[in-house]
Amino acid sequence: MKASQFFISTLKEAPADAEVASHQLMTRAGLIKKLGAGIYSWMPMGLRVIRKIETIVREEMNHAGAVELLMPVVQPAEFWQETDRWNKMGPELMRVKDRHGRDFVIQPTSEEVVTDIARQELRSYKQLPRNLYHIQTKFRDERRPRFGVMRSREFIMKDAYSFDRDLDAAKISYQAMAKAYRAIFDRFGLRYRAVAADSGAIGGDLSEEFQVIAATGEDAIVYCPSSDYAANMEKAEALAPAGPRPAAAQPMTKTPTPGKATCADVAALLGVPLQNTVKSLVLATDETNEAGEIIRSQVWLLLLRGDHDMNEIKVGKVPGLDAGFRFATLGEIEEHFGCKPGYLGPMGLKKPVKIVADREVAVMADWICGANEPDFHITGVNWGRDLPEPDAVADLRNIVEGDRSPDGKGVLAVERGIEVGHIFVLGTKYSEDMNATFLAEDGKPAFFEMGCYGIGITRLPAAAIEQNHDERGIIWPDAIAPFTVVLCPITPERFPEVKAAAEQLYAQLLAAGVDVILDDRGERPGAMFADWELIGVPHRVTIGDRGLKDGLVEYQHRRDTGATKIALTDILAHLK
Ligand code: ATP
Ligand code: MG
Ligand code: MG
Ligand code: MG
Repeated sequence: MKASQFFISTLKEAPADAEVASHQLMTRAGLIKKLGAGIYSWMPMGLRVIRKIETIVREEMNHAGAVELLMPVVQPAEFWQETDRWNKMGPELMRVKDRHGRDFVIQPTSEEVVTDIARQELRSYKQLPRNLYHIQTKFRDERRPRFGVMRSREFIMKDAYSFDRDLDAAKISYQAMAKAYRAIFDRFGLRYRAVAADSGAIGGDLSEEFQVIAATGEDAIVYCPSSDYAANMEKAEALAPAGPRPAAAQPMTKTPTPGKATCADVAALLGVPLQNTVKSLVLATDETNEAGEIIRSQVWLLLLRGDHDMNEIKVGKVPGLDAGFRFATLGEIEEHFGCKPGYLGPMGLKKPVKIVADREVAVMADWICGANEPDFHITGVNWGRDLPEPDAVADLRNIVEGDRSPDGKGVLAVERGIEVGHIFVLGTKYSEDMNATFLAEDGKPAFFEMGCYGIGITRLPAAAIEQNHDERGIIWPDAIAPFTVVLCPITPERFPEVKAAAEQLYAQLLAAGVDVILDDRGERPGAMFADWELIGVPHRVTIGDRGLKDGLVEYQHRRDTGATKIALTDILAHLK
């Protein structure tokens, strides 16, 4: 590629809304261009990175036996109604109507569509296992799109779905993907960690996230340097033993039993300051008749104030979560519930409550938590509807650096990561909801055991940059750089021999299959170097008239502090 024929558009200043380095640098280097909130164009320079990522992903997916197809971006609502995600997903699911008033979604993921394909196409156990994937545009109406393409609303994901005859076979398919993902992320040339994650319905060791290590990552992850234990914070906390902690290490809950939600989550959700306000909360629900059937579900939150003054309890009724809160006295609480708050627990706190009566609340099914007993928190919480920002809760973890690793092999370290991939076994959730069966070996219909496997294609460049940049700009790993080599002739218009040498080297590199760009724009050296350092091309060769007299050019890796003189005749071998 010659720079004069390409599209290069660099900026001195970052946009005002760019909070993190990757967003600033991607915009300044002309990789992306904002169109609206969470919606970006991939400019030619950025698209080259995306294409390289996609190529690596495709090669390894195909190598692992997955088969590519392409499913629609716009999907009829009826499929989403079959699994009830039409109701469960809340406002993150983008819904549109066609001219006939029929409902559609802009896909955030494709389980429904791929399961529909499977139930029509995969009729016999003999056709299994199958793994189908696509690389396709997604839309999630994120509550807070931010950090550019890192958490955008429109983005590209590679999503794969496996279909198996039974759970054992599904685990084999899962392991094949776990291996393929390691191959993919190794090839990207990024520092990453595969961490155990929560697999939702199935549990066990059947879910991993692939986290690119970066100080600015939204996720906290824990690992044991002396063993292979690694997990995301939620998963680690869910498995961590309960027990008292020194106050300094654990400022917000006294003696937590770790769960997916803490007081911090609730405080964030309700918009009340955590540190001094929330010490405890209780929640009651499920009015039952004499036969024990649920006749009405109500959810109440009681936030005890930091001083644990039982006479000043904040009370809120939760459906929709926007109900106003007010302070009530203990007397009022007792009168309303017919018992002291401390006794509310056994009514509904101890086990997770599935709320069915109220549509609004049903969206948040499976959440519940509280510190009903002194110094005790209920686990297994999932604020499905309106998750607090991960970074708002990450620092309020119960696990801290130096805790013993669950495998007993050492102590834990904590670091931050960016979730760029996520794989898990789904079980039969979708196949049951959509009645997707095949004929098993015994001649009877059986539900597919499924797995799903995502990679955030457009999040990856941002994650790579968070991990690899300096004050001058981006530093790409070779495998995903927009160009691997840039040739910078110095004032070639004055020195025909410089121009000729650059052109010749360019032709040689192209012939050798090197992804090279020749900067023939006629820029001053300073401006030219600044551009390529900002864009982050890893290898630069500078060709000047003086060096050339001695048959030398200058080579500089983007991480090097200075250039090295290399014979023009050796440079090709050096770069290959
Ligand atoms: P997150 O926790 O960051 O919201 P997720 O767990 O909701 O991500 P998955 O449903 O697991 O995401 O989707 C698979 C991959 O898609 C993620 O690992 C991530 O790399 C990418 N991804 C998810 N949401 C976004 C987004 N809003 N913008 C860019 N990439 C995204
Ligand atoms: Mg998400
Ligand atoms: Mg996630
Ligand atoms: Mg995920």
